[in-house]
Amino acid sequence: MRRKLVVGNWKMNGSREEVKSLLGELFVGLVKATDSVDVAVCPTAIHLGLAGEILRDSPIELGAQNVHSSPKGAYTGEISTPMLVEFNVRYVLVGHSERRQYFAESDELVAEKFTAVQSGGLTPILCLGESLQHRQTGITDQVILGQLDAALEVAGIEAFENAVVAYEPVWAIGTGQTATPDQAQEVHQLIRAHLAEADSNIAGQLRVIYGGSVNAENADELFARQDIDGGLVGGASLKANEFISICKSVD
Ligand code: PEP
Repeated sequence: MRRKLVVGNWKMNGSREEVKSLLGELFVGLVKATDSVDVAVCPTAIHLGLAGEILRDSPIELGAQNVHSSPKGAYTGEISTPMLVEFNVRYVLVGHSERRQYFAESDELVAEKFTAVQSGGLTPILCLGESLQHRQTGITDQVILGQLDAALEVAGIEAFENAVVAYEPVWAIGTGQTATPDQAQEVHQLIRAHLAEADSNIAGQLRVIYGGSVNAENADELFARQDIDGGLVGGASLKANEFISICKSVD
């Protein structure tokens, strides 16, 4: 039985005061809910220290939005996995579509980051997603499996024992246009079936979460589907009540 996971991706949002107040509300509002769902938040890198202090005695875990693939070196402005470990980070997003789109991250680079996070002892959340054009031209499966294979070939199936996959259709991110539960389930099933060809046990225990305009109204129906093991939530994770309702809709 896979335990559901809900992750908030705060993107480039939040002041120190906003981080304190949002986490304060989540801390209280999710006390009971975390008995039945895993919850994590991904603030900006500069807020990880503050968030870690606030969450010290909370079951809410910490995630990072990005990482460099090397453990250290002359990479001005970058942050490595060992540095994230020092801040008690558990999850790291790799290959978010905004990184692929605005920072030209290739499948190869994403695969390197995926491996670096794993070998550093953290759990990568590998984000996969097709554009609207891909979907309209009927190549969604091909695009998703291509992105998945890039990581699979470099890291091997064993790496998916401690990983999460997030299916995030690019056309649904920040647009208010959510994939229907059927559309999402179809792709989640495809991802799991593909990994099962390499190892059915690993594929069976892997959490595949959905991201793309998840909100308090649609979370229920999405999370009820067989292969949807929770959500990666952007905009709605910045509103305490909304995010709390999303996490609670797991039951
Ligand atoms: C995201 O950034 O991963 C995301 C899913 O954003 P939103 O929920 O705002 O669509």
